[in-house]
Amino acid sequence: MALKFLKAAALSSAALVLSACVSITTAEAPLPPSDPLPPLPPPAPMFEPSAEAMKAHMTFLASDLLEGREAGTRGYDVAAAYVAGRFEELGLKPAGDYASYLQKTPLVSYASATKGKLALRAGAKGKAVPLVFGTDYLPGAQPVAAKVAVNAPMVFVGYGVVAPERGRDDYAGLDVKGKVVVVLTGAPSGFQTEERAHYAGGKTKRIEAAKRGAIGVITLQTPMREKVRPFARGLNTWQGSSMSWREKSGAVFFPGASAPPIATLSLDGAKKLLLGAPYGYEDIMRMAADPDGRTPTFALPKQMQATVDSKIAGVQSANVAGVIEGSDPTLRDQVIVLSAHLDHEGVSEKADKNGDKIYNGAMDNASGIATMLEVARGFTQSPDRPRRSVVFLAVTAEEKGLVGADYFANNPTVPKGSMAANVNLDMPVLTYPFSDVIAFGAERSNLGPAVRRAAESMGVKLSPDPLPEEGLFTRSDHYRFVEQGVPSVFLMTGFEGPGREAFTKFLAERYHKPNDDLDQGIDYAAGAKFAKLNYEIARELADMDERPQWNQGDFFGQLFGK
Ligand SMILES: [Zn+2]
Repeated sequence: MALKFLKAAALSSAALVLSACVSITTAEAPLPPSDPLPPLPPPAPMFEPSAEAMKAHMTFLASDLLEGREAGTRGYDVAAAYVAGRFEELGLKPAGDYASYLQKTPLVSYASATKGKLALRAGAKGKAVPLVFGTDYLPGAQPVAAKVAVNAPMVFVGYGVVAPERGRDDYAGLDVKGKVVVVLTGAPSGFQTEERAHYAGGKTKRIEAAKRGAIGVITLQTPMREKVRPFARGLNTWQGSSMSWREKSGAVFFPGASAPPIATLSLDGAKKLLLGAPYGYEDIMRMAADPDGRTPTFALPKQMQATVDSKIAGVQSANVAGVIEGSDPTLRDQVIVLSAHLDHEGVSEKADKNGDKIYNGAMDNASGIATMLEVARGFTQSPDRPRRSVVFLAVTAEEKGLVGADYFANNPTVPKGSMAANVNLDMPVLTYPFSDVIAFGAERSNLGPAVRRAAESMGVKLSPDPLPEEGLFTRSDHYRFVEQGVPSVFLMTGFEGPGREAFTKFLAERYHKPNDDLDQGIDYAAGAKFAKLNYEIARELADMDERPQWNQGDFFGQLFGK
């Protein structure tokens, strides 16, 4: 594998030298004396990404030697060194810490350390009736304190939605100060999917609870959620680690930390918790299933007595960043960030049926990084520099909760206000010759028309989101830029022709499994086409006259835009 890679890389750099020589001689050749007019300058060469280069990058990044590129491991660091090396080769300027391509990211991992203890009691002095681990509840974890202990009254707040734009406040008339908030998982089904994903987020709910002085959050499973993701499945994952990051002050970044997650209760657990409440389990869940999802909210008759433990550890990793500076004296201070995550899931404890333990992450996301490297080559080889500056950013710890991107978006190595747009590449499925793409978020800003122009210039159709129920707009790194007010777009290969089957097959058979490897019939020519499309998009965004901006009244623009 390594040998093959070296050969392909050597070939592509030879081609690079050759084309550079040719254009120099053409431009500087003296005119023959008999010519009446100077010849027209040669047309700017069209950038053609190379299938071989896509293959070379992916072959290295998804090789077993990189051991699944998990954030904080040697395999990830090798991958980061590889990307930094390619950035240097292309002539990008370092855009990490100081004069380096690496931006050190002080990560913090956290996971449940014990099964915890939960009990319901009638009043502060009532008898404690324990809830059962695994059948009634699974404990929550957080990165701020090793132990969270509460013994406090509980308040049920429905979905816990606070949405001024809808005239809705599920906390209206309730006093939750010093109490434990009980919320339903998810958000009302009638909400637009991406807005629903925002309101369904644990972080959103925690922040609202913390703002009102609550001291913890209990989440209740709903029958709707049970159909999509059964509570019992959590028994396999409850000890899995998540990550956050440390501020320069040393404090762990965890918005809403004063209302930490205590536990998630199963349907059985929810029934026990709601027993004796003004409204019973059946009524609540029936109302929660309405599109509007409004339920009564009330103080519960029982108290929660709980102790949950987290193991918290520091992890060092790094984002990789390089920049090509813009040519326009004014616009160069605006930055287009092209991002892709470099990490994946590492090595599994158990081998799959083929004896494989390594999460190679060929599509998730070696394909996105390879695409980004080809787009970077397009910019550095173009005779015209982009008008705006373009930062190429390979981020760490996406698989741990979009953490490397969160770190960069909060602590950018460029002036914060300069980030004008983000284009993210995550898991382009490159196993078929795609003819359409989906651009998540495009309709929310003036990035939409730019993306459309770029796609149409290549005869590629822009299709609507085929999986609205997945809420994909909030599930990859670009969302961390959205949260900082930056208009963003995230591209996925589309469902036309063989697309739907190829994509659903990938999700069912290989997504987050060791067999997301190089042996899945990768169509590197489709990869080159995807790189070309992303180059055209980034180019449009870098060169367009007006600054990228949210559409008037857009939900995310209103919520996070400045
Ligand atoms: Zn993934």
